[in-house]
Amino acid sequence: MAGKTQRPSLLPEATLPQHSSPVVMAGRHRSLKVGGVTPFTATDYPGQLAAVVFVQGCPWRCGYCHNPHLQARTSDSPLRWQDVRALLERRIGLIDAVVFSGGEPTMDPCLAEAILEARALGFKIGLHSGGTHPDRLRSVLPMLDWIGLDIKAGFADYERITRIRDSGVPALACLKEVLASGVAYECRTTAHPDLLPEGELEALAVKLANMGVKNYALQVFRAVGCNDEALNTRSVRDYPSAALVERLSGMFPVFTLRKT
Ligand code: SF4
Repeated sequence: MAGKTQRPSLLPEATLPQHSSPVVMAGRHRSLKVGGVTPFTATDYPGQLAAVVFVQGCPWRCGYCHNPHLQARTSDSPLRWQDVRALLERRIGLIDAVVFSGGEPTMDPCLAEAILEARALGFKIGLHSGGTHPDRLRSVLPMLDWIGLDIKAGFADYERITRIRDSGVPALACLKEVLASGVAYECRTTAHPDLLPEGELEALAVKLANMGVKNYALQVFRAVGCNDEALNTRSVRDYPSAALVERLSGMFPVFTLRKT
């Protein structure tokens, strides 16, 4: 996800308890593939102190991705879910929520099971998603308290960002699922002037407002953690213009501009 505000910190092996795997299916253990954990953050779930679980894998290849090391899925999970869950148990009373982020958490078939286990510990559940898997998103939405959904561009133009053909189709389906669900949400766009010129950014905002989006955040591109030098070297100092920001803020009941 480009929408998240933290990068994962891999936990040192020595800090992780060693347990045998409790779930075995067809002779093979299956659980969430976790690439990293942030044990404490105040910025990834609005108004809540949270831990963030960074799920491994993403089918898209956005140039501005802050966690490209999480895009590929490896055969084994870098961190065992059982150990992550044990960490979460030790966070009871210290944090309010667990956020599943990535990579793309809805890519993982074990997401629902992991969410239920975290919820059983008493945590609120947040999800960061790019909108890649509408069917899995629909199945987990009833388990969520909040979702941050990335909207990368006009839905016909997603390939420009994700480098994957027709990726706007599942993204649009995911947005419709979120809006229909009643789950608290934020739609957010990471915007770079070379990827989303001001005219296209405004057209996207108009479309989202017309679809019924009430909570929209514009996150201006940050070079920190981005491997794309062409994007990194372009100045975003005057982007977007103050006039456009004012028009955008008038389109949504809740509008947030994030720019550093
Ligand atoms: S959708 Fe995937 S590739 Fe794009 S920013 Fe998010 S994690 Fe990175």
